[in-house]
Amino acid sequence: MKPAKFDYVAPTTVDAAVEALVAANGEGKVLAGGQSLLPLLNFRMTRPGVLVDLNGIQGLSFIEPRGDRIAIGALTRHREIEQSPLIASKLPVMAAAMRHVAHLAIRNRGTIGGSLSHADPAAELPMLSLFYGAELSVQGPAGRRIVAAEDFFVDALTNCLEPEEIVVEIEFPMLAYDGWAFEEVARRFGDFALASIAVSVRRGSSTIDNVRIAVMGVADTPLRLKAVEGKFSGVSIDDRTPDRFSELVMSSVSANSDLHASSEYRQHLLGKLAARAMRTALTAKE
Ligand SMILES: Cc1cc2nc3c(=O)[nH]c(=O)nc-3n(C[C@H](O)[C@H](O)[C@H](O)COP(=O)(O)OP(=O)(O)OC[C@H]3O[C@@H](n4cnc5c(N)ncnc54)[C@H](O)[C@@H]3O)c2cc1C
Repeated sequence: MKPAKFDYVAPTTVDAAVEALVAANGEGKVLAGGQSLLPLLNFRMTRPGVLVDLNGIQGLSFIEPRGDRIAIGALTRHREIEQSPLIASKLPVMAAAMRHVAHLAIRNRGTIGGSLSHADPAAELPMLSLFYGAELSVQGPAGRRIVAAEDFFVDALTNCLEPEEIVVEIEFPMLAYDGWAFEEVARRFGDFALASIAVSVRRGSSTIDNVRIAVMGVADTPLRLKAVEGKFSGVSIDDRTPDRFSELVMSSVSANSDLHASSEYRQHLLGKLAARAMRTALTAKE
């Protein structure tokens, strides 16, 4: 298949890119790594009048510390995040998850801004943005605004951006934790996840002080399980803790069914992954 005809512009500033989207009058589409957009164009599932290529804009690709956060430019490739020593030391759950993102060739081109904007419910970076409580800096005709990750994902493949808005950068708070885990099952390595969970734990000598949980692949958007976080804070740690956690996670999610997996299978998978993740998180730093 070949895409339907479109105009192509390659601005060199974010302001010019926003202007091009405004001029496109709702018919514009941003091009970043192209790993999701180009298949959609080729299958004619999307037919933008104008493609606004971000790749000529300097300064959108970076990973840098900013106080108690790590800021990542929207055009930063998955591979750069995967290989960054700063991400490995400050956002280790993200570092662990990145090698599950597609295949190397796709990670070489795909960008964090593209992954978040594409909002696939089984993609790692959208889930991680919820897990960390990230904030997205978004630029549109009225200037910049900050959008919390928990407000960004509206539905499967749907975000809250206006047609003229561009994700410019994302800030991830560095979490305090004593242990963490990232678990995922996909049919083949590099495929989108059937189910996945990220967990971090702060613990006392015999209790869990607090826990943070995000899941993906089971609903129309990634989810942060705040109700489970609340219920699991203060619980005592013993041999049954991972199983109790698993039951709570499973009962808090009603998993989707599709051609890849039934709802029951996904729910079962999530429960297994939750128990495994809690076991790892509790033993990681003893
Ligand atoms: C075979 C295959 C397997 C894959 N497996 C996985 C996987 O396991 N996990 C995973 O997470 N991903 C996976 N992906 C997706 C991959 O990670 C993509 O790179 C990513 O989803 C989109 O990033 P991109 O930079 O290529 O965006 P593009 O394809 O260029 O754009 C995607 C969408 O986001 C919009 N967009 C892009 N950048 C911005 C921006 N800065 N501001 C506003 N809108 C923007 C575009 O207009 C478009 O609608 C897979 C892709 C393929 C082809």
